[in-house]
Amino acid sequence: MKFTKKQIERYSRQIILKKIGVVGQKKLLQSSVLIVGVGGLGSPISIYLAALGVGKIGIIDKDNIEISNLSRQIIFSTNDIKKIKSSTAVNKLKKINPDVQFKSFNKKLTKKNINQIAKNFDLIIDGSDNFRTRFLINDYCLQSKKILVSGAISKFDGQVYTFNFSKKKSPCLRCFIPNMPINPDIDNCEYEGVLGTLGGIIGSIQANETIKEILGIGDSLCGYILIIDGLKLKFRKIKLNKRSDCYCNENK
Ligand SMILES: [Zn+2]
Repeated sequence: MKFTKKQIERYSRQIILKKIGVVGQKKLLQSSVLIVGVGGLGSPISIYLAALGVGKIGIIDKDNIEISNLSRQIIFSTNDIKKIKSSTAVNKLKKINPDVQFKSFNKKLTKKNINQIAKNFDLIIDGSDNFRTRFLINDYCLQSKKILVSGAISKFDGQVYTFNFSKKKSPCLRCFIPNMPINPDIDNCEYEGVLGTLGGIIGSIQANETIKEILGIGDSLCGYILIIDGLKLKFRKIKLNKRSDCYCNENK
């Protein structure tokens, strides 16, 4: 692919970076990511990835916009209430960057449809709000050897982890949480609350880690979990070991 004059201008601040350059920017424009959930995390993730030129972005979310979403789901406005999240988000993102090809899925990600939906994307970003979906994405990425960049927020805290399943040593979500918690469909933000800015902090880190994985630059977060305490402003990066008796060892 050849850049147009406008593209060179649009991405000039990234192209100037030695670790990105023309080659890296082309790589971004030729990459594809699926964002699961366009909520508190998916909003900043999708805005940043569209703006900086990830070429193909899929967004899956089954929900419609509610007034209680607006304190943190910054891609939506008051006049979007009741509209479909996935397509409304895509309409906004198209205005941010017309270079990007978008695909919206107004449905719940399930065991039955995950292969069909996710097969066309290189990397999966988890911005979901429940454990059933998190485990589903983990198991899919493990089996298809895709990179998973996952984030979670609750109250004033958040966490980020990356699994690169093309690497044999990569742990998985089940190494960290062996069994699906009781009530896996519960959205913790609804019951425990969350400060809106945590979505921005964690979502932006997820977008940053996604770019690093696509370009193969910097230190991968794979094998670690980053835990952020927003009140004390403490960042802890904890080693996450692969458990020898985990499901991920049987499924390699
Ligand atoms: Zn595992």
